[in-house]
Amino acid sequence: MPNMPHRTIHLFRKGLRLHDNPTLLAALESSEVVYPVYILDRKFLMSAMNMGTLRWHFLLQSLEDLQRNLTKLGSCLLVIQGEYESVLRDRVKKWNITQVTLDAEIEPFYKEMERTIQALGGEMGFDVLSLMGHTLYDIRRILDMNGGTPPLTYKRFLHILSVLGDPDMPVRNLIAEDFQRCKPPPELCLAEDYRVPLPEDLEIPRESQSPWRGGETEGLQRLEQHLKNQGWIANFTKPRTIPNSLLPSTTGLSPYFSLGCLSVRRFFYRLSNIYAQSKNHSLPPVSLQGQLLWREFFYTVASATPNFTRMAGNPICLQINWYQDAERLYKWRMAQTGFPWIDAIMTQLHQEGWIHHLARHAVACFLTRGDLWISWEEGMKVFEEMLLDADYSINAGNWMWLSASAFFHQYTRIFCPVRFGKRTDPEGQYIRKYLPVLTNFPSKYIYEPWTAPEEAQKQAGCIIGQDYPLPMVNHKEASDRNLQLMKQVREEQYGTAQLTRDDMDDPMEMGLKHELSEENPKKGKRARNREQT
Ligand code: FAD
Repeated sequence: MPNMPHRTIHLFRKGLRLHDNPTLLAALESSEVVYPVYILDRKFLMSAMNMGTLRWHFLLQSLEDLQRNLTKLGSCLLVIQGEYESVLRDRVKKWNITQVTLDAEIEPFYKEMERTIQALGGEMGFDVLSLMGHTLYDIRRILDMNGGTPPLTYKRFLHILSVLGDPDMPVRNLIAEDFQRCKPPPELCLAEDYRVPLPEDLEIPRESQSPWRGGETEGLQRLEQHLKNQGWIANFTKPRTIPNSLLPSTTGLSPYFSLGCLSVRRFFYRLSNIYAQSKNHSLPPVSLQGQLLWREFFYTVASATPNFTRMAGNPICLQINWYQDAERLYKWRMAQTGFPWIDAIMTQLHQEGWIHHLARHAVACFLTRGDLWISWEEGMKVFEEMLLDADYSINAGNWMWLSASAFFHQYTRIFCPVRFGKRTDPEGQYIRKYLPVLTNFPSKYIYEPWTAPEEAQKQAGCIIGQDYPLPMVNHKEASDRNLQLMKQVREEQYGTAQLTRDDMDDPMEMGLKHELSEENPKKGKRARNREQT
């Protein structure tokens, strides 16, 4: 019946926030009662993306926070464990639901879920409303503007955005009055059945070691803290941030964006305000808005590229005969490569669930085209499990980038697992923090402890090959061999390589070229290109 207020289930999937939440706002405006529901469908979540312990903690903390914030506004979060379709079927009947609202998402597994819910709506007679809230733009508009296909280079992507204009402004914050008319029955809010589960209910350790705490409240606090530092925001230049600083040298907001605890539109517009007040500010691809646009770029390409998270059947990805080597993969994953810079990064990943972008570069290059010639899909799966910010589109997009399978084309530039970290942390403080076994090595050996004389190893209390592994490969030999393999692949698959090619897309171009030429002013371009970063 037209104009009758709905009885609505608002289904949270990502979008775990009350600020800039257009779908929840639309639910509240159209309903006499709104049931805010999170269905904890463990089977679905684990089949969609493998989730490690740290991300489970982050999710539970985010749900707790959402629960608290909804309660403050007079409503509550109803967490229901079970298979989503049967949970919905049951509650729709019980609560006489006429509408289900949910954020539209681009991942195939979430799209399939939405199709299932649409079909259920047809069968049971409820409406489904889904709006985009997780990206700056409605991705479908970008595709339409590009003739129905995704723009495959960042430059082309920015061009399309310049035609579209700025993203929509964030919608207003929700307040208690919004919920007043449409609270769920109080007995439901108090029921034990609907509480956020504890870690032990999910059989994971009670405490998380990660310094990132989940939730909108924490995300907003971190955001506000950064925004106070207007000079830093205005001058932010990604390649100049430091991969091995002991505290993040970038915003560290990715876990919050990933689960939608923070709105990217809010961040985008707050950045715009700061840019408007500064005489000079950095620009994409290296500025902070540029980072959000990288996110948007990978979302756009992922949304319309078949098999985006795989090599086989993925039309933009080079088809490479990677080695299958479970033992070497295991050493990389478990921080036992024998290269302290690589192992320290993998240890930080295990312990905290977040590592700097350039640290991700280092370990991803090492695993794939740099040293081990192991498929980017294997690395992507490890990141998927370990990262707090694990994201379907961004993870796969960046792994393709780092393995030079798509998007990135300066494949002669291979990161050296010894020199890369040294540039910004010559004393090896980062290594000492994450690999305490090496802590007593003098700085000159900390990146390559196997070169330390026996006496120095004894003094450091760590014998290489016994207390810490010898390097698992000879980097020079492995990277030379892999470079030839990659050259051959790219010649053979020239057409595919060109699809995503625009050399000006590479944010590292600016920073690194400059730094390398400063280090080695006399070297020619060819030598510098081969120079390992
Ligand atoms: P900032 O530099 O402060 O940037 C702000 C925001 O912009 C980030 O929070 C993120 O949402 C976005 N952003 C920044 N860099 C990128 C980028 N290169 N591509 C897309 N979006 C970006 N990021 C994820 O969010 N999830 C992932 O699963 C993920 N996997 C990655 C895998 C590899 C191999 C590599 C090299 C990078 C990956 N990234 C991923 C991208 C990037 O490393 C992180 O987004 C960034 O390091 C997060 O830290 P930050 O929030 O401090 O970033």
